[in-house]
Amino acid sequence: MTAPQPLIAGNWKMNGLGPSLVEARAVAAGLQATMARVAICPPATLIHRMAEALAGTPLLIGGQDNHWDDAGAFTGDLSAAMLADAGASLVILGHSERRAGYRETDEVVAAKVRAALRAGLEPIVCVGETLEQRKAGDALAVVTGQVRGSLPAELAGGAFSVAYEPVWAIGTGLTPTTIEIEEVHRAIRATLVEMFGEAGKAVAILYGGSVKPSNAAEILHADEVGGALVGGASLKAEDFLGIIRGL
Ligand code: PEP
Repeated sequence: MTAPQPLIAGNWKMNGLGPSLVEARAVAAGLQATMARVAICPPATLIHRMAEALAGTPLLIGGQDNHWDDAGAFTGDLSAAMLADAGASLVILGHSERRAGYRETDEVVAAKVRAALRAGLEPIVCVGETLEQRKAGDALAVVTGQVRGSLPAELAGGAFSVAYEPVWAIGTGLTPTTIEIEEVHRAIRATLVEMFGEAGKAVAILYGGSVKPSNAAEILHADEVGGALVGGASLKAEDFLGIIRGL
C-alpha cells in the first residue's frame, strides 16, 4: 500500500468576495508540479467564479459543507450536487465550527458524507477535541470516537481524508506539540485500519489548527501527517504558498 498523496486545503470560511480571486490565481501560479494536491475551499458564492479563474491549473476547489439530502425544502442550504455543479471536487464536513455552532453530531456528519459521495465529491472529514477534553485526558477517545461515528462504511474504497483539528488550536495561534500531533494521528490511523483494512493506510490524515509558514515544515513532516487544513493563513497566497513549500 503506497503512502497517501499529501493534501493541503485552505478553508476560507465566511471570507472572500470577487476581488479575493486574485489570491487563488496567485496560489495556482506559485504551485510546482511535484507538490501535494492543493485545494481552496472558498465560500459557496465563489466556487463557480473560482473554477473559471483556475481552469487549466492543478489547484482544486472544495466546498465547506453540504446538506445530507440531495434536494428539497431546505431554505438556505446547499446540496453536494450543487457544489459539484458549481465546480467543487472536494468538501469539508464536520468542521468543529459546524459541530459546535450548528450542533452537528457524528450521525449528521456521516449522513453528509454519504451525500457528498453520491455527488462524487471527495470528503475531508474533520475531528478534534476541545481543550477541556484534552485536559481531562480524553483526546484520543474523543477523536477516535468521532472517526468511528463520522465515517460511514460507504467510504470504503473511495477517496477521502480525515483532518485532525484540535478545537483549541483553531484560529488561536496555539498548536499541539509534534509529539501530541503524532500520537493522535497514529490513533486515527489505527482506527482507519480497523474500519477499512489495508485501504485505511492510504487515507491522508491532515493536521489543522494555526498552521502557518513558520510551523508548517515541522508539522508536515511529523509521522502520519499527510497534509494540512489551513484556515486564516490560506487567505493570502503568499502565506498559503509558504505553507505548501513546507512539504
Ligand atoms: C480551520 O478552521 O480549519 C483552521 C485550521 O483554522 P486556522 O488555520 O485559522 O487555525
